[in-house]
Amino acid sequence: MSNFGRFAPSPTGPLHVGNLRTALLAWGSAYTHGAQFIVRFEDLDQHNASRTHATEQLDDLLLMGITSCEVPVCQSERFDLYRDAIATLTARGLTYECFCTRREIAKAVAAPHGAQVLYPGTCRELTAGERAAKREVRPGAVRLRADGAMAAFEDYVWGAQSGAADDVVLQRNDGVPAYNIAVVVDDAAQGITEVVRGDDLLSITATQVYLQQLLGVATPRYGHVPLVVGPDGERLAKRHGAVTLAELADMGVSPDEVRETLWASAGQHGDVVDWNAVPREPWVAPWSHA
Ligand code: GLU
Repeated sequence: MSNFGRFAPSPTGPLHVGNLRTALLAWGSAYTHGAQFIVRFEDLDQHNASRTHATEQLDDLLLMGITSCEVPVCQSERFDLYRDAIATLTARGLTYECFCTRREIAKAVAAPHGAQVLYPGTCRELTAGERAAKREVRPGAVRLRADGAMAAFEDYVWGAQSGAADDVVLQRNDGVPAYNIAVVVDDAAQGITEVVRGDDLLSITATQVYLQQLLGVATPRYGHVPLVVGPDGERLAKRHGAVTLAELADMGVSPDEVRETLWASAGQHGDVVDWNAVPREPWVAPWSHA
């Protein structure tokens, strides 16, 4: 069976140079390790996602020299697979219903800014009667019963990592499967052997690895790439100026120039990805302004 790397954007708008930099490393790393490369669209949230954005994202990736060797799948078409996985976990007593609102969770956890916020466990031990009463008010979401399990994984940038799995939401209270189960099911179903993505997802990875263990699927190798920021140090966003290929083209910056700048910013020179050369600090995009 072949090995695969992947890039899994949410098709909610144009890719910005931060997404493209991560995609270039994901693509280069897959081929460096003899793997093939696919694009997958994470469009679980159908309010903001669209096919038009997906097509535009593929066009922009092509301008960076990146293509998917399979027709990209869309998560919105794979709910059955995710529901099967949730049902498997539920049958083993590894899930519970949760009725908390975001506001209630925020009130229950007073975490220092930036720290990983674990679900405080409010609904973990509800009785059947309590659950029935809460269902009268609003439908429940389905959470993973992680019981604080620890999980470990290897990261190309950050080395050996381990962390506590969180009681993440597997199914939202409107019935839509959630990102953390979808990503684990898809990475396994698609034979993904390496996952390269932004380091904003580093802290949730232990939970995904724990889910892989529960479902009996292989854990890929990870590479969490430091984000691209504006001059103010904040995560790159529209207000930082020209951050998409179209905006940069309007300024006279060609896609080739963007690709070369992004590649060099990631410490890369040849075609082969050298993970040791990837800086661990966020990179300040040179075309943005505060
Ligand atoms: N869809 C996520 C994003 O666009 C990436 C998730 C992943 O790569 O696992 O940030």
